[in-house]
Amino acid sequence: MATKIDYYAVLEVSRDANGDEIKRAYRKLAMKYHPDRNPGDGDAENRFKEINEAYDVLKDDQKRAAYDRFGHAAFESGGPGAGGFDFGGGGLGDIFEQMFGDMMGGRRGGRRSGADLQVQVTITFAEAFAGVKKKITVPTRVTCESCDGTGSADKDAKPETCPSCHGAGKVRAQQGFFFVERPCPTCHGSGRLIRNPCKECHGTGTVEKNRTIEVAIPAGVEDGTRIRISGEGESGGKGVPAGDLYVHVSVEQHAIFQRDGANIYCRVPVRMAQAALGTEIEVPVVDGSRTKVKIPAGTQTGEHFRLRGKGFSVLRSSARGDMYIQVVVETPRHLTKRQRELLEEFEGDAAGHAKGSPESTGFFSKVKDFFEGKL
Ligand SMILES: [Zn+2]
Ligand SMILES: [Zn+2]
Repeated sequence: MATKIDYYAVLEVSRDANGDEIKRAYRKLAMKYHPDRNPGDGDAENRFKEINEAYDVLKDDQKRAAYDRFGHAAFESGGPGAGGFDFGGGGLGDIFEQMFGDMMGGRRGGRRSGADLQVQVTITFAEAFAGVKKKITVPTRVTCESCDGTGSADKDAKPETCPSCHGAGKVRAQQGFFFVERPCPTCHGSGRLIRNPCKECHGTGTVEKNRTIEVAIPAGVEDGTRIRISGEGESGGKGVPAGDLYVHVSVEQHAIFQRDGANIYCRVPVRMAQAALGTEIEVPVVDGSRTKVKIPAGTQTGEHFRLRGKGFSVLRSSARGDMYIQVVVETPRHLTKRQRELLEEFEGDAAGHAKGSPESTGFFSKVKDFFEGKL
């Protein structure tokens, strides 16, 4: 390949296109120039190769960054991009597999490589608050070292395009009025034929292995958040794009804090007399510190006190939520003789003091109206 066209131009996307835009553009063009749709058209075939080559680079953040910096030189042997990847020698079978492997996505049989992986990770409330790095073990398929991912015991043998499906991996059969697509019975959906399969991977080009990946979970993450890690899904045989890894984050409940978005709620019990007289209480903060909150005289159950900026970080912003102290006034139980006397004395006094309990006074005057038929 003497002159190379700009990869962004090949995929007809702008230089700041995001991953999804690139993927969409790739799929559209790959469908258009797919050799199955353009039999015997050499230009379409070349275009198809270019599209795949461009996509292989632009879908990978690292390769894309290298390409943005060094251009095509990043992937030439001896260039700064270390090694690069060969595409020309892979034969059409590989290109078919790359395309279908990517488009099918899901794990349908061991042969479909490049599948996305899903893992579940559970973190504590405090970890969600501060952010955390978690090592997760991902069962995945990696390129078979024994055959270098070719799937063939004879490394130099080029994989042959399956003659039954011409590499598509699927065959169409008529059923009544409809055409149905089925995995090709000859190649079991891989689109290629290996005469002498590798003993290690049985011709799939990949073997199962556990990988450990460190995932940075950002501060402020919410229960049920899904984090996508591009290119950390299953790898396949040679030239097949790796899938993505999706990390589903569960956040454990906390014994004293509840969360609503970026805000944190904490129910704090206050003794009846404290609420009546006013006091200062010490409350825990999710970051492990403590802070003092003034409870004014006459505080009722359910009243909130806001601690600004003591909530969760808001993802992708520098904003912080607030913390709310919810007061629960606690009625005393198991009174001592002395307490009972004091309260009886208090109650005798309170009964004639309507202004001291406006809620009761208001309620009982409505009850009176109700029985008199006024309400
Ligand atoms: Zn192998
Ligand atoms: Zn086939």
